Amino acid sequence: MNKANCLVCAKPLQYYDPPILKECIYCKQQCETNSSCVDGHYVCDECHARDAYQLIYQACLNTSTTGPLELANTLMKHEAMKMHGPEYHFLVPAVIISCYMAVANPNVDRNDLKESLDKALKRSKNLIGGSCSFHGNCAAGVGAGIAMSVLTPLSRKEWQLSNLATARALLSISNYEGPRCCKRNTFLAIKSVTKHIEGKLEVKLLKSAPRVCEFYQHDALNKSTSLC
Ligand SMILES: [Zn+2]
Ligand SMILES: [Zn+2]
Repeated sequence: MNKANCLVCAKPLQYYDPPILKECIYCKQQCETNSSCVDGHYVCDECHARDAYQLIYQACLNTSTTGPLELANTLMKHEAMKMHGPEYHFLVPAVIISCYMAVANPNVDRNDLKESLDKALKRSKNLIGGSCSFHGNCAAGVGAGIAMSVLTPLSRKEWQLSNLATARALLSISNYEGPRCCKRNTFLAIKSVTKHIEGKLEVKLLKSAPRVCEFYQHDALNKSTSLC
């Protein structure tokens, strides 16, 4: 990826003199800037420097989108997100929780969303990297269960729904042979839990998704453009 170009779409940058106000594509704050890409994408200095967990957290706290696949795809383009890694364990519940709350309660208190993202962050950090290979338990799939457990208090029916969310995500992930791909598994887990939430909680998240994988050429092992 050309690091001098746009972080989001890799197109060249354009410059403004005098500076203009632009909204950061990740954290949504308005900043004065001298540059954006030719398509208008702008990433603020703070987001440029964030680590993957903080990037996901801030984007999911500030977005009003209801499309978890698109949101995850945009986040994956940031250079803080490695091709594969444990940050994907947080990415799945974070985008689901954020989009769910945007649909189910558009006037949600930001502190409630923050509290939910904090819970998801803590729980997802307990999942070790390589779970898919060593435990037969892809942690992006478990991220579906984390999302469900945060959105529904742990009791009888909800306990069942959380475990079912993980089971369904792992089933969809296991339809594919290795090598493992954290991005593929993340898309599969998000699709699966989106359907699960629609069926069980009657909340519809936006299903629009990128048509092909935009990252495959950066992976030494996976050469498929299919988004599964
Ligand atoms: Zn761009
Ligand atoms: Zn920002």
